[in-house]
Amino acid sequence: MVGHSHGDLPADSYMAKVYWMFAGAFMAAAVLTHGKDLLEYRLRMRKAARSELDPARPEGMILCALATMTAIVREAGYYAFPLLSRNEGKWAQKVLRIFPRWTHLPPMGHLFLMAANLSLVLSLVFYGFDVKSQWQWEAVAVRAGWITLAQLPLVFLMSGKSNIVGFLTGSSYERLNWIHRTAARTMLVTAAFHMGYFFRSWARYDYVAGKLAADIHTRRGLGAFCVLLWLVVTSVSPVRGWRYEVFFIQHMISGIGFLVIVWMHVPEEAQIYVWFPVGLWVFDRAVRALFLVYNSFSIFHRKGDQSANPTLFACRALFHPLPDKATRITIRNPPFTWKPGQHAFVSCHSLVPFQSHPFTITSLPTDGSLEFVVRAQSGGTGRFHLHACDLLPPRTDETQTVFIDGPYGRMRPLEQFDTVVLIAGSTGASFALPLLRDLVCRKASSEPIVTRRIRLVWVVKGRGQIQWFSKALADGMRIVESSNSEDTAGNGISIDASIFVTCDPELTTASYETVPTPQKSSEGAEVIKGRLPRTSVGGDEKDVLGVAIEDVDSKPEVQKEDKVVTGCGDGTSGCCCNQTVDEDAITDESTPKPCCCCATASDSSTISSTSSDEKSTNAKIQSVSEKTPNVKSKPPSSISTQESLNLPQKVNIVTGRPQIKRIIDKELQKAFGESAVAVCGPRGMVQATRSAVVELCDERAVHKGTGAQGVSYYLCPFMRMMC
Ligand SMILES: Cc1cc2nc3c(=O)[nH]c(=O)nc-3n(C[C@H](O)[C@H](O)[C@H](O)COP(=O)(O)OP(=O)(O)OC[C@H]3O[C@@H](n4cnc5c(N)ncnc54)[C@H](O)[C@@H]3O)c2cc1C
Repeated sequence: MVGHSHGDLPADSYMAKVYWMFAGAFMAAAVLTHGKDLLEYRLRMRKAARSELDPARPEGMILCALATMTAIVREAGYYAFPLLSRNEGKWAQKVLRIFPRWTHLPPMGHLFLMAANLSLVLSLVFYGFDVKSQWQWEAVAVRAGWITLAQLPLVFLMSGKSNIVGFLTGSSYERLNWIHRTAARTMLVTAAFHMGYFFRSWARYDYVAGKLAADIHTRRGLGAFCVLLWLVVTSVSPVRGWRYEVFFIQHMISGIGFLVIVWMHVPEEAQIYVWFPVGLWVFDRAVRALFLVYNSFSIFHRKGDQSANPTLFACRALFHPLPDKATRITIRNPPFTWKPGQHAFVSCHSLVPFQSHPFTITSLPTDGSLEFVVRAQSGGTGRFHLHACDLLPPRTDETQTVFIDGPYGRMRPLEQFDTVVLIAGSTGASFALPLLRDLVCRKASSEPIVTRRIRLVWVVKGRGQIQWFSKALADGMRIVESSNSEDTAGNGISIDASIFVTCDPELTTASYETVPTPQKSSEGAEVIKGRLPRTSVGGDEKDVLGVAIEDVDSKPEVQKEDKVVTGCGDGTSGCCCNQTVDEDAITDESTPKPCCCCATASDSSTISSTSSDEKSTNAKIQSVSEKTPNVKSKPPSSISTQESLNLPQKVNIVTGRPQIKRIIDKELQKAFGESAVAVCGPRGMVQATRSAVVELCDERAVHKGTGAQGVSYYLCPFMRMMC
């Protein structure tokens, strides 16, 4: 494969550089956009520090024009075309079970970039050639080879965790990972043209087999194509998620193998395109190794508290079992700092050798400990949970050495938005609650903050899941209350928090019947005395995707034994699938109550709700829930659900699923400047939130003369890796 020039046409090596001119221009635009975001952040913070009005509202012609442009791009970019619905029948349900992403096409922004990249490479491959002329087929093949090679650095540039592009564009590795996958698929297309046009040309003389037998370069080329095909096919989400560790190891080996074969296949003048990815890979590994060593050895962290880390390794973790097959991992005196919403990779080789799992950090640096709430799946996380259960009653000296790689994940700081809506499902609260707590702590410590309103919507299956984060939520609410009571100028932050319970609390925690009520340990974390049944971990209960976040009942209908049912199902599901129309608006008997699927109730307990929003719409939502005899975690009827969970009364607890669009709409109507909507939950919830943001931006004609302010949408890294 030599970089010829063909008559008047530019040389192939030049066409490969043209690809990088476009890719570089695109990256430069992304860097400029990030620069604009940073500037905007500083401006808003300065305005907030001076107590100016509405810092998140664009002022002046330039800022307003930019806001309008951003709104148009976001509206188009966030939209995702619907593809398949479970309601379309059994076949659709079967397809969605294997390919859960196929409910919608990827967002338009992603599709646009994919199409732009594909059009660019195809234009470069065919530029100046007449493909009908058989004498040009080999020339097309050579050009396609160069363009394939030109894409190789991009694929590697987007794959690393210590990502230079991510650093310069304010993005992080999990956001860029889809570009890595898309670029690799596009590379496969041009590689197919490279091979196909050579084969087509040789086939005229029936020389394909002869060429393969005679020429080692051709055999290497065919080998490289096969490895690339393997890499792409095994990266498709159902295959990738099947056995992550197997996927990861084979992907690394195949990737290195691919580089070696390509290096042997291409001419010397083109080998720079192979060395560049090698350099990127080594850089990524070296930076990660350095941080890992820094995070792991206590020798680097002895300044502050000499006695805290007397061992060789810096991170010792306590494993505490939580209800509903979860484990709280706590590392005291963490050796690094982090930002809310970030995640880290945790390895505990004494419990789960040679594995590293990503978890969202649920604590704030000011807490003095690094915490993760981990839902047990069938692999390493299941073993963490079994270990935690084995340790009962918990002993603070029973710690395990862990290694932390991170923190990772970047997003625009939320304190620059007027209104922040946080939507979480199940363990998605590990993303939402640190963000909420960070905002209220900033306000309490009188740091500049633009945010006036926070709305939290947390959807859980039942009581057990609420206990995972009840302390964090209660802390957040109390901080707001005390800082608002001290704030005489009326500049307090307004916070509304609702927990939507989709399944009967007693049914959900029934497996804990033999387990005494959670108690506080000396560490302040909840522990369960007694032993959880080992069979409750992983096994049959493993979700197809296997991630805890999928556990919330988010589907519009409950599927049971091949029967699609809606609402409360057939009465045996124990899950409430109705949408709570509007928790604030339920004021009288004529308004439909949220459903309860606990038809066998012999008694009633009250799940009460008191909205803290507008007092006029305050209401108590009552629903009857089943009383399962002998369930010891059930609160006595004299105390409210909030009290039994150590939550303030201001936290609404309602049954049913939230109407996400309505909730966001209400918040946007009250916003005086740009708002942020962050979501971390099951696919259905993510899709509903994204669609709601797009529809509301369209209906409200954001920044198009109506006065409606912009909305920024964020997906947690957890779901970004899955969606
Ligand atoms: C950025 C991010 C943040 C996360 N935060 C949390 C959290 O706060 N709490 C929580 O409970 N879970 C979280 N998860 C999910 C968690 O990482 C997986 O549930 C866990 O790794 C499963 O381990 P396992 O061996 O027990 O799972 P298995 O039962 O072997 O597999 C279950 C599923 O997890 C996937 N998986 C397994 N290992 C990994 C890995 N190393 N990286 C990515 N996916 C993997 C598998 O592909 C499969 O789909 C997060 C995931 C990501 C990507």
